[in-house]
This record gives sequence, C-alpha cells and structure tokens, in this order.
Amino acid sequence: MSAGDDDYTPASRLRLLQAEFLQPGRGQHHERAAKADTPSVPIRIAIYDHIRAAVDEVTEHTRAVAPDAGPRPERADMVYDWMREHTAHLDAERQRAREALIYRHGLEHALAMGESKVIRRQACPGCGTWGLFWRRDREAAVCVNRFCADDDGVSRTWTLAQIADDHIARKESSARRAT
Ligand SMILES: [Zn+2]
Repeated sequence: MSAGDDDYTPASRLRLLQAEFLQPGRGQHHERAAKADTPSVPIRIAIYDHIRAAVDEVTEHTRAVAPDAGPRPERADMVYDWMREHTAHLDAERQRAREALIYRHGLEHALAMGESKVIRRQACPGCGTWGLFWRRDREAAVCVNRFCADDDGVSRTWTLAQIADDHIARKESSARRAT
C-alpha cells in the first residue's frame, strides 16, 4: 500500500488548506505579487469560509453535547482534538456521531482542495464496493456498481454525511469482530 490521502487526518488536511490557500504570514505583499501559483482572491475567500464553517460546526456540536467545554482553541486545526477531549465521556452513540462528523470534515477538506479522488477510496454505503465518484454538480457521490443501482437502473447517490456514518459504522463492526 502506498502512502496517500488516507494518511491525512481531518486536522492535517485543515492545516494544509490553510498553508496552501491562505498562506498566513505572506499577507498583502503576496496578494499584490499576483503570481500564477497564488490562489485567486475568490478561492481564498471560499477556503476561508469553508474553514470557518467547519470550525463553527465543531464548536456548536461540542457545546450542544458538552456545555462545559469552554472556549475553543485558537488554532482551527486543534478543534478536533478539543472536541474529542470534551466529548470522551459521552455514550457510544454520541461518540459515533462525533467521529462521523470528524470523518466527514476530512472528506470536505479534501474536496475543498480539489482532491475528489478521496471519494473513490470510500466504500459505498449501499453495496460496500469501492466504486464511488464525486459529482460536484450534485454535491454527492455516485456508485458505479450496476448491481447497486435501483430497479430502473439509476445509480444511487450518497451524501458525505451518509458515507461518513457508514464508514464509522463499518470501522466499529470490524473492530468488534477483531476482538
Ligand atoms: Zn453501491
């Protein structure tokens, strides 16, 4: 097995997003330089909004289930550790929901970077095969397995949340089988 995107955690992907698209420290100077490899302002704004929405979702989710969590970390990429730390006492179902949220964020960060191939490495929640591909226009993953299609032959589509929930459930059941 070669090293790939699977080696990235949601936190490291978020760090990568910040480093590659927002380039902290370069600021105005870099913007005016307008180099070909500099992400355009609209892209950078979109990435900035993406990161802020992710951090907000983690914060809201954490505070809803752990009101005593206190202030979130300053660094965006630290929010996942913060979330896990403050929700470690919750029941299995809520911990599962948290892991599914974090996993979904990892997928969203990869897609925000334009790495839609990350979807191909996800098992289809319907048939369990690795034949998913990302449809940006539909904001959903489509399964190419014809045996997975519905009675009319229409391919099934899955949201990132469905894929993440299924991933966490599969991981858990294989962990149970291993013990
Ligand atoms: Zn399928």
